[in-house]
Amino acid sequence: MDESKKIGRRDFVRGAAAFALAGGTWAAVGTKAEGTVWQLDPNKCTQCGRCATHCVLNPSAVKCMNQFNICGYCDLCFAYLHPGSRERNTGAENLLCPTAAIERKFIEDPYYEYKINEDNCIGCAKCVEACLVFGNGSFYLQVRQDVCINCNECSIAKACPSNAWSKVPASKPYMFITGETPPGQK
Ligand code: SF4
Ligand code: SF4
Ligand code: SF4
Repeated sequence: MDESKKIGRRDFVRGAAAFALAGGTWAAVGTKAEGTVWQLDPNKCTQCGRCATHCVLNPSAVKCMNQFNICGYCDLCFAYLHPGSRERNTGAENLLCPTAAIERKFIEDPYYEYKINEDNCIGCAKCVEACLVFGNGSFYLQVRQDVCINCNECSIAKACPSNAWSKVPASKPYMFITGETPPGQK
């Protein structure tokens, strides 16, 4: 391949970060302009699993995110691969995610991009826990505001053992795991 056309990892990561920070995935869900909405603080979450089981919706309105600009794009990603897996491939028996919601795309040796298919994600936090223990901690949970029906009393908030939930301004409905406010939110 023409070296000038080859996408280096650093360039790719910068591009991915720019995409995330430019609001690529965030813009797609839109924001509610007024009032307050439920959101969880990923830095208080202890991955108990109740986000998957205590939402009034099935599947849950809580989904996993991957903050690309801190992801290591690891070949051996323990958020993706089951610890007992024998092969590093996409066989269902090798995956940690119970619904195969994490999509892996080859970038260049030895780097892969990991993206969440939110239609399949149930918010179980298994990948979040694994990424925190073995990786960079770039995976985290958020309420998808285009799915959530904004219950007056959120049943997950009541069940959360870590006091991670609160009402936030609808104009700032999401947060990054690193604490910054995603762009497009005032
Ligand atoms: S209920 Fe609370 S601690 Fe449990 S996964 Fe959800 S946010 Fe995390
Ligand atoms: S492991 Fe759980 S939280 Fe992570 S992508 Fe799969 S369903 Fe979603
Ligand atoms: S407010 Fe209702 S729909 Fe939204 S996350 Fe909580 S229980 Fe689920």
